[in-house]
Amino acid sequence: MSVEGVPRLRVLGIPVDPIDATRAARLVARHLADGTPIQVVTINAEMAMNTRADPALAAVIGQAGLVLPDGSGVVWAARRRGARVRKLPGVEFIHEICAACARAGRPLYLLGAAPGVAQAAAEVLAARHKGLEIGGVRDGYFKPEEEDAVLEAIREARPGALLVALGVPRQEFWIARHQAALEVPVAMGVGGSFDVLSGRLRRAPGWMRALHLEWLYRLIQEPWRWKRMLTALPTFAILALASEKQERYTGYGMVAAASGQQPGEQGGLPL
Ligand code: UDP
Repeated sequence: MSVEGVPRLRVLGIPVDPIDATRAARLVARHLADGTPIQVVTINAEMAMNTRADPALAAVIGQAGLVLPDGSGVVWAARRRGARVRKLPGVEFIHEICAACARAGRPLYLLGAAPGVAQAAAEVLAARHKGLEIGGVRDGYFKPEEEDAVLEAIREARPGALLVALGVPRQEFWIARHQAALEVPVAMGVGGSFDVLSGRLRRAPGWMRALHLEWLYRLIQEPWRWKRMLTALPTFAILALASEKQERYTGYGMVAAASGQQPGEQGGLPL
């Protein structure tokens, strides 16, 4: 399978589309134009590891139309498999979605995060993207009995794109369960992006991002994550290397032939 002409990779059995922002934005624009649904997943090493204990999550990611490499670990593993790929963080791709919505004249809906946060993020996005209409916002702390009303509000807004910040993996499951009935062409799980856009959480400074240390910055801001992250990341690296050997024999998941490179040619990135 390929997405926008880019062969889809597999890292630990999980699909990754080593695609650039321009191509990914083009794909989103097409779905906005023809109305067919596409779920966008942003994958990092921690999430890839979660799929090992959660086959349902693996299945949801497997059916996603676009899986963006959102993490240095995944980019590293993809490069070792011969892909020319750069990290494409969800918090940046949100802007491509906003621009595509503005161009298509379709509203954007923001669901999730603490009360007030989605609204603040929406204001930031509307100020940055001329012509972007905000179809609605809703925090992510609704009760199960309120879910029907949440769904109804989204349906009524008829958004072109829905950003869902309910945390991984709840947001991925939520989108997979409801997107078709909501008839929203583009839906993406965005994790803590509303917190970042609204200024409640900060992204790592540019120099840390350049050194692939965004995960460390996040750890410093949200130290409760340390156990999760510090076990997931090295285990991911070890398993990714081990699975490479297997793939080399089966050819499964490698794009070296398509890209004209040898597996491992660009594999020097630190995790
Ligand atoms: N969140 C939410 N409802 C919940 C749990 C989380 O709206 O029941 C929001 C949370 O406020 C944050 C976002 O989901 O804005 C991402 O949460 P977290 O950082 O825990 O998830 P991750 O980044 O690991 O996906």
